[in-house]
Parts: sequence; structure tokens; C-alpha cells
Amino acid sequence: MWQVGAEQSRFLEPEAAMPGHEQLVPVGLTHAVDSETGDVACGYESEALEFFPDLDWESASLVERCPDCVQVVAAPE
Ligand SMILES: [Zn+2]
Repeated sequence: MWQVGAEQSRFLEPEAAMPGHEQLVPVGLTHAVDSETGDVACGYESEALEFFPDLDWESASLVERCPDCVQVVAAPE
């Protein structure tokens, strides 16, 4: 599975998040991160990314996908 790795993130407005929980959401460009190896599909520095293990990169909505990652993920093995 490919997880979301975001270059930036922010906390949702308290009204939009679950009560009692601050919810972090991805902002701006996101990269595909291999959930098993932690590698970024396009070779981006993974330490610079905020990970969202609960989000599936290919089906996550409202995120901007890195075009290089899109190509790598779409490419046949
Ligand atoms: Zn990328």
C-alpha cells in the first residue's frame, strides 16, 4: 500500500476535528510512501515528510499528488 507523505501539514479547525482530538491533515504536495519499506516512490527525502499512515495515497481525496510519484505508482512492476 502507498501511504500519504505530505511536505506540509496543518491541524484541522477544532470544529471540524473529532471532539478532544487535534486532527492533522496534509497540505500541498504529497508523495507516495511505501508502507512496508518507508521509501518514497519518487526518491524524495522521506525525513522531510509528514506521514499519514491512515491515508491510502491512491484514493485519498483533497490531496495534491506528486506527478513523479503518480508515474512510479502507475508503472507496472
Ligand atoms: Zn513524489
